[in-house]
Parts: sequence; structure tokens; C-alpha cells
Amino acid sequence: MQMTSYDTIIIGGGVMGCATAYYLLKFDPKLNIAILEMDPTYERASTPLSDGNTRIQFNLKENIQMSQYGLDVLKTFADDMAVDGEKPDPAFRQQGNLFVLDESSRDESHEGMLLQRSLGCEVEWLTPEGVQKYFPLYNLKGCVAGTFGPHDGTMSPMAILDGYKKKSIALGAEYIQAEVIEVLREGNQVVGVKLSSGETLNSNIVMNAAGAWAAIIAQTVGVDLPVVPTKRQVTIVETNYRGDGVLPALFLPSGLYVIHEGEGLFMVGKSFPDDHIGTDDFIWERKTFEERIWHELVEYIPEFDRLKILRGWAGLYEVNTLDGNAILGEWTQLKGFYLANGFSGHGFQQCHAVGRYIAELMLGKTPSLDLSIFSPQRILENKPVFESKRKII
Ligand SMILES: Cc1cc2nc3c(=O)[nH]c(=O)nc-3n(C[C@H](O)[C@H](O)[C@H](O)COP(=O)(O)OP(=O)(O)OC[C@H]3O[C@@H](n4cnc5c(N)ncnc54)[C@H](O)[C@@H]3O)c2cc1C
Repeated sequence: MQMTSYDTIIIGGGVMGCATAYYLLKFDPKLNIAILEMDPTYERASTPLSDGNTRIQFNLKENIQMSQYGLDVLKTFADDMAVDGEKPDPAFRQQGNLFVLDESSRDESHEGMLLQRSLGCEVEWLTPEGVQKYFPLYNLKGCVAGTFGPHDGTMSPMAILDGYKKKSIALGAEYIQAEVIEVLREGNQVVGVKLSSGETLNSNIVMNAAGAWAAIIAQTVGVDLPVVPTKRQVTIVETNYRGDGVLPALFLPSGLYVIHEGEGLFMVGKSFPDDHIGTDDFIWERKTFEERIWHELVEYIPEFDRLKILRGWAGLYEVNTLDGNAILGEWTQLKGFYLANGFSGHGFQQCHAVGRYIAELMLGKTPSLDLSIFSPQRILENKPVFESKRKII
């Protein structure tokens, strides 16, 4: 039977919400946790619509460390998330991420590479010829150098979400289909949530893990979050390429990216400044690929002048318009209101570190990884923490 009072209520059963529930219960199996998800099919949630890519190639130490922790977790993820002998299959393909650098991105990326190496990451600095060795289809247009992270790669985001979800339920979390319409407060303390059914659930700890809907949730309790739902589109194409193995994922300076899925299949995407803002448009438009991406793709990979557009989809980035980075922790002006929002397109890979960090904060533990650089306080103080101007996932 569903309770009405919980130690923690998590709004949103995406990868952030489920990973946090898992870590809370791992630390303290006695906790009563509710995960509230308005759509358990996840039709519009960002997690299953993501490319599932992870990289250690960031310029902020904390972003690199989050990815390092994620790579560690992935080594035993299937076993750790096993429930009754059933294991998730993340299908992690460490094909490596290959960043092409032009004049404007070279110095910044070189600094990033030195930082990554100083933290123990393996990253190669490449000449243009080195780039071509890794990705022979690329004609080197605009390339002055490159970086290659051999441990970066792509996986099934749904398998990771499902793993955390099933394991946290097995550990005792209540997963409830419900839409939150209001976060409730008394003075400067959160006290629960109101559902669209009219029911009220009580808790002194409420987590906003509502992804692209995070600002709507925050608004109900008077918190202004600079998180904007932004449409992003991905297209799958079939080409004539039939080389051996899987090519690295290729990231061009313009933001165009090409992720090899094996044989002739490639996943292609690019963000545009005029991408639709709002939670009302999930329509994949073939013409965006045909008219705005294909010609650019052919400029770099001439062989792709003949290809078949197979299908595509659109999902939402939860863009933090202050600085493009995560917002993690308790809202300092509202006790018990925890945020894991604003990941701006690179959240999937951070779910492991974020789940652990938010759980540690809620339980008053010393964080294993100090992520206070992403504190919500910076939003109130208008102090952005910029990562980089060029990397898009
Ligand atoms: C096209 C695309 C490609 C991407 N590629 C990558 C990538 O390669 N690597 C990477 O790291 N990241 C990537 N991302 C970003 C990544 O998907 C997100 O950062 C991450 O999945 C966010 O997880 P989340 O749990 O916060 O959000 P979500 O998965 O969106 O989960 C939030 C959940 O909250 C629920 N919810 C919302 N409002 C309410 C409410 N009022 N009541 C109850 N439930 C509610 C929603 O239904 C949803 O299920 C990509 C995103 C997109 C769209």
C-alpha cells in the first residue's frame, strides 16, 4: 500500500532520480523513498532519447572526475544492478571519442588534455594525420590537431536507467506513477508535494529530478531556475562504409558529431541556436538533416554524399542558460529542496556521480567527490562556471 509520508520524495524517475534512489538505499536500506514519475513509458524523458555517450574530455576538473567515476561504475554495473539473477546490459562500446580541433579550439583543448592527464586519464594529442588514422573517412578540412580519448564511448542509456530503477525498487524504493503539480513549503522548509490526483505526499526532503521540466517544478515553490527545455535532433543514416570494427565517435569544431554504430550505420546530430524551446515539440524533422546538416557532413566526409536517411528522433536538452553546467545540491533558501538539474546535454554520463553526491548531501555525509563548484548558490550569486565553448554532448 502506498504511504503518504517519506524520508525522501524524488520528482522524476529518469536516470538522475533512479540513480539517487539507488545510492540513498545503498547507504541506508531503511529509508522510505518515493520516486514519482508522470510517464513510466519515458516517451519524452531525455534519458532514453540521449546518444548515451560518455567522455573524460572536459576542461573542468569536476566534470572529468564525474566521468572517471562513471567509467569505474560501469565496470561492475551489470553485476551491481542484478535483481533475482537478471542483469542489465549497458552494451558499452568504448570506441573512443575523437575531437577535431581548429585554430580557435586548439589551445583550450590542449589545456584540457593536460588537466585530464594530470588526473590520470589517458588522452592522445594528435596531428591531423593522426586524426585521419583514427577516422580515415574524414578529409581533414579545417583540422589543425585532434584529441582522442580511448576510454570514451557510447552505451544504451535505457539499460542504465532500467538498471538503477529496478535495483532501487528491489532495495525498497516505491516507484509511483504520478504527476507532481506543486512542491509544498512551510516557511523556508519543504514539506512535500501535491499530485495532479489531488493527493498530498509528505517529506522534508524533495528532490527535483524532473529533467527538462525542472524549471516548471521549481517555479511551483517560488524558485527561479535558469533551465530551458531545448529540442535536439538525432538522425540515423546508412552509408556504404563497410570497414572493420567501429570507428571512434567524431566531434567537429562546428558542433557536428558523427557516432559510428557499426557497419554502415552512423548517428548524426548538431545543435542550432534556433532550436525550438519548450516541452511541446518532439517531432523529428527529416528536412533539418537534409537542408542543414547533410551538406556540411559531406564537406568533411565526402563519401557520405550518398547515404540513406533511416530514421531519427528528437528529445530535450535541459539547458542551464547561466553556464551550461549541472546545478547540484540544496537550494540554499529552501531547506530540503534538492536539485540535480541543468545538465545541458551531458547529464547521462554524470548520473552515477550525481546520484552518489546528492544522496551523500541528503544524508549529511562528506561527499566522496566534491562537486560544490556546481552548487545552486552560484545561480543566486550569478557566478557562472563555464566548461568550454565547443563541446556539445
Ligand atoms: C538528443 C539527446 C542526446 C543526448 N546525448 C547525451 C550523451 O550522449 N551523453 C550525455 O551524457 N547526455 C546526453 N544527453 C543528455 C541526457 O539525456 C540528460 O542530461 C539526462 O538524461 C538527464 O536525466 P534526467 O533524469 O535529469 O532527465 P529525464 O530522463 O528527462 O527524466 C526526468 C523525468 O522526470 C519526469 N517528470 C517531469 N516532470 C514531472 C512531474 N511534474 N511529475 C512527475 N514526473 C515528472 C519526466 O517524465 C522524466 O521521466 C542527451 C540528450 C538528448 C535530448
